Amino acid sequence: KQDLELVAVTKRYGNTVAVDAIQHRFKPGSYACLLGPSGCGKSSTLRMIAGHESVTDGSILLGGRDISGLAPAQRGTAMMFQNYALFPHLSVIENVAFSLKMKGVDAPQRRKKAGEMLELVDLTALSDRLPDQLSGGQQQRVALARALITRPEVLLLDEPLSALDPFLRVRMRSELKKLQKELGISFIHVTHGQDEALALADEIVVMNNAVIEQAGPAREVFNAP
Ligand code: ADP
Ligand code: ADP
Repeated sequence: KQDLELVAVTKRYGNTVAVDAIQHRFKPGSYACLLGPSGCGKSSTLRMIAGHESVTDGSILLGGRDISGLAPAQRGTAMMFQNYALFPHLSVIENVAFSLKMKGVDAPQRRKKAGEMLELVDLTALSDRLPDQLSGGQQQRVALARALITRPEVLLLDEPLSALDPFLRVRMRSELKKLQKELGISFIHVTHGQDEALALADEIVVMNNAVIEQAGPAREVFNAP
């Protein structure tokens, strides 16, 4: 298991300093929540780790290797988006297998691996449906399977539960937690909800005004003066 380390990572958009020289080592194989108010720099941080946004300064190390210059698919990370971003004209299994197709994996192998991922998120029965024939929670599971099929060391989740109704949100919480334990990889989950962070996180990283204010186990972070 490889640990992810942020070394003086900075993001500027013009004159806005969105992330200001943050420093953190995420423990391998643990569930981390990046918690803080809107605009504090959480998404920018996640997007820099994923490679969807360049770092202005600093570096991002995975297992000691600087990944900050690599393309998203080369980093050992995968991102699950808030709006799921599924391809509407592709079936569930085709959505999940998409990245393997891009890599040139042959059809039988794609079908096998995508099938395993769908089993993992309990969607085998819906393999041949189109995304608009699924509920919000089911679409989210497809997005999860699609991110996990690349076998990332680190899964990045940007407000993954915010589009769900309260009932589903609580259920998906425990499913995410269970999945993370089963896979043993690191999850980094962005949220502005304290209760969500408390329910999920082995470690909470609190951001405010572009910096990390505090980091530690949930109990420690919430009991601090
Ligand atoms: P959060 O995820 O905590 O809401 P963001 O990382 O989205 O925070 O944003 C941090 C700051 O950077 C905010 O002031 C936001 O307006 C600004 N910002 C984010 N993305 C961009 C962008 N593409 N261009 C300009 N400013 C941005
Ligand atoms: P989140 O906080 O979940 O990232 P936002 O609505 O802040 O969602 O951002 C959505 C998109 O808009 C992102 O691509 C982000 O880079 C961009 N964005 C956010 N803030 C700004 C801003 N002040 N100026 C330009 N683009 C922005």
